[in-house]
Amino acid sequence: MATMEKAPDERAMLSAVATRDARMDGRFVYGVITTGIYCHPSCPSRPARPENLRFFTDAAAASAAGFRACRRCRADAPALSSRLHTIARFIQAEADEVLDLKTLASLAELSPARFQRAFKTEFGSSPLAFQQAFRAERFKTALREGSSVTAAGHGAGYGSPSRAHLHAKRSLGMMPSTFRSGGRGEHIHFAIRQTSLGLMIMAASSQGLCLVEFGDTEEALYQQLEASFPNAELLPSPQRAKPALEAWTLALEAHLRGWGPRPDLPLDLRGTAFQVSVWRFLLTIPCGETISYTALAAGIDRPSAVRAAATACAANKIAVLVPCHRVLRGDGQLGGYRWGLARKQALLHSEKAHS
Ligand SMILES: [Zn+2]
Repeated sequence: MATMEKAPDERAMLSAVATRDARMDGRFVYGVITTGIYCHPSCPSRPARPENLRFFTDAAAASAAGFRACRRCRADAPALSSRLHTIARFIQAEADEVLDLKTLASLAELSPARFQRAFKTEFGSSPLAFQQAFRAERFKTALREGSSVTAAGHGAGYGSPSRAHLHAKRSLGMMPSTFRSGGRGEHIHFAIRQTSLGLMIMAASSQGLCLVEFGDTEEALYQQLEASFPNAELLPSPQRAKPALEAWTLALEAHLRGWGPRPDLPLDLRGTAFQVSVWRFLLTIPCGETISYTALAAGIDRPSAVRAAATACAANKIAVLVPCHRVLRGDGQLGGYRWGLARKQALLHSEKAHS
C-alpha cells in the first residue's frame, strides 16, 4: 500500500510558488490574503508577496478558510471534475426521466448557470444535450439489434414514435430507416476458409476488416455477412481480387494454429460509440490474460454499465482479432461467446500455452 505523501515544508512551497513549479500541483494550494483567491503552485497569475501567502493541503481546506478558487488555474478543478462525472453517470442512469437543471446543479453544489458552464467545459455539451445524446445512442443500439423503430423509441425513453424519429434525425443526421440500411453503396470483399476452429468468414471494407465470424456451413456464414451488410455489394474473393484479404486470412489462420502472434490487421469497427469504446478496450487486453465484465466496464470508465458492456462483447463481429473471448464472468466461469463456448475455451487454452 502506498503511504500518504507528506506535505512539503513551507520553504519548499514558497520556492514552488516563486518558480510556478507544476510538479507541485496537487500537493498543496496557496491563498493570497490580499485577493482572497487560492491557486495551484503553477498558476501563471502575477506573483504575490511571500508574506501574503497562506498554504493549504487542498482546495477544500482553502475554501473552508474562506478563499475562492482562481479561475485562471482552475484551482478547484479536480474536485469539481469528479463531481461532474458523478452527475454524468446519474444522468445516464436516469436517462428516461425528465431532469431539470436546478436539481442537477444542486447535486453539483453549484448555481444552475455555473453548473451548465462547468458541465459544458467538462463534456463538450450541456447536461440536456448530454442526456439526449445518451438516449440517442441507446436508440441506435436498439435499431442495430433489429427492434422496430416504435419499440426502440419506447425503450430509449421517447414518449412517441414521432418524437423518436425527430430526435433520431437531429442526433444522427439521418432517418432511422437509412441508418438500418447498413452498407449501402459499399463494396465488401470476403473469403471463407477452413481453420482450426472451424469454417471462418473474413470480410473487409475499404477501411479494413469489418467482420470475422465462425460458422458451420458456407451458406450460414454468407447469410451472417448479408445480415450485417444487407445493402452492400458482397464480393467473394478467393482469387487475386483482394490480395490483402487472402494474406490476412492466412495470418489469422497461422495465429489460430499457434504459429504466430495475433496479427495486427486494420480493423473497421462499426457500432455505437459505446460498443466501439468496449471493443477498443478489448484490444488492450494482452494475449494470455483475461478480465471480468466488471473490470471491462470499469476500464471504459462506465463501472455501472456491466451488463451493457457484456452485450457489446456479444455484439462483436470481429472474432479473435477483437478479443472478446478474453472476458470472463466474475466467478471465473466462461460466460457467453457468440461463436460457442468450445471455441472460447480453445482460444484461451491456446493463448495461455503460447504467451
Ligand atoms: Zn490561479
